Amino acid sequence: MDESVLELVRQHMREVKTPGHYDKVYKDECMFCFASPQTPGGLYINLTTHQAFDEEHVELDQERTGAVLYLHQQARRVPLSEEEQAATAAKPDRMAIGVEGGFNVDAKKYKIETDWVSLC
Ligand SMILES: [Zn+2]
Repeated sequence: MDESVLELVRQHMREVKTPGHYDKVYKDECMFCFASPQTPGGLYINLTTHQAFDEEHVELDQERTGAVLYLHQQARRVPLSEEEQAATAAKPDRMAIGVEGGFNVDAKKYKIETDWVSLC
């Protein structure tokens, strides 16, 4: 990492707040729109207010709060392997939907993997 970036991180380290047991971290959706971690560009989580913003709205948050340090969250769908699919899709033995032993309408064909990177 570049020394100038490290210096910037050191300057703003004191602004970072660790969420406590009762604090909410809004990391699932942009505060201004419906962007999610799976949206291209992902979400940026303000490390002081613990609110998330997409690429379009993160500058608005920076102007509003003067925040510098964010945690970038980018999620993507990863296809399940054949073994994982076989484990999740058991054959139905009852004529029913969405109950144990019946047809599983929620059989997953993919899993979600998330990358986390601290940014400033
Ligand atoms: Zn947004």
